[in-house]
Amino acid sequence: MKINEIGEFGLIGRIAREVEQLVPTGWEGIGDDCAVIPSGDDHSLLVTTDLLVENVHFLRDRITARELGAKSLAVNLSDVAAMGGRPIATFLSIGLPSDTVEVEWCDAFFDGYRSFGVPLLGGDTTSSPEGIVINITVLGTAENRHIKRRNAARAGDIIAVTGPLGDSAGGLQCLLHPLPADADTEALIRRHHAPRPHLAEGEWLGARPDVHAMMDVSDGVASDLLHILRASSLAAAVDVRRLPLSPLLLKMADRCGWDAHRLALTGGEDYVLLLTADRERFARLQQDFQAQFGRTLHPIGECMPGQPTIQYRGSEGTFTGFNHF
Ligand code: ADP
Ligand code: MG
Repeated sequence: MKINEIGEFGLIGRIAREVEQLVPTGWEGIGDDCAVIPSGDDHSLLVTTDLLVENVHFLRDRITARELGAKSLAVNLSDVAAMGGRPIATFLSIGLPSDTVEVEWCDAFFDGYRSFGVPLLGGDTTSSPEGIVINITVLGTAENRHIKRRNAARAGDIIAVTGPLGDSAGGLQCLLHPLPADADTEALIRRHHAPRPHLAEGEWLGARPDVHAMMDVSDGVASDLLHILRASSLAAAVDVRRLPLSPLLLKMADRCGWDAHRLALTGGEDYVLLLTADRERFARLQQDFQAQFGRTLHPIGECMPGQPTIQYRGSEGTFTGFNHF
């Protein structure tokens, strides 16, 4: 059987079943944004790793080395934020085609990497026959009672996101179907190349008991919300009309004939946080979030008892997020 017959998440499920009996009691392995390893003193170590492959995750001639250094780390930091934690250390392994990559490219890459101020404590360096390959591991820490998991959503919870959806996918559209390089296309491409991990928001939401489940949006809400629903054995309704779309995305969608709602649900790589929160206390949470960050916490739907599926309100469409295979 070929891997594409079971898909990315089918393969991960198979790996998880093979190794689960080796996981010590009280440790949490495959299945969430980070592994959780108790470190005593009511805290745990959070561990996450991500792989970026040239021509799969980025095009070398379109993203600057500085942006790539920052983005490679940002996507990992986002997973620590998603668990309610704070990143404390990183490790970087990099495979480079030595005949086509300049030393100055590496300097700029590390300039971007350094920009988050999280220490790099080690890694590995090797040649690569063709493309650049980047693997980063991030260690984080969190108080045990602040850790947010995908399996903690409850029926009746409000589903919310911490920022606009679809900008990154719009930027990718600009890269794949070259459009005139004006200020709007450049700004949208920057949203794709320079995502901001919601670190402060993640740690703040982690400390709120009214927030139940949380993860980050890497593959698109259509796919990522299903992970929360499967882990929590719930169904959900998402109101497509309430998806937060930036004025820039709406303007570009109008100009280029894109379906902005589809990009928002299926595009991925927005790296905002997706969470479920107590319905009765949501208005207060939203107010406090606004006061703390000067930005809106956007409600997009609700959790309901039922099979892990998403009912889309306000749209006829069906939506599927990103799957590597
Ligand atoms: P994220 O997008 O948050 O980084 P993924 O969708 O990549 O998460 O992975 C889902 C879960 O599967 C995570 O817990 C991750 O650690 C685990 N996982 C993915 N690939 C592998 C693998 N090859 N071996 C072990 N665990 C894996
Ligand atoms: Mg994640």
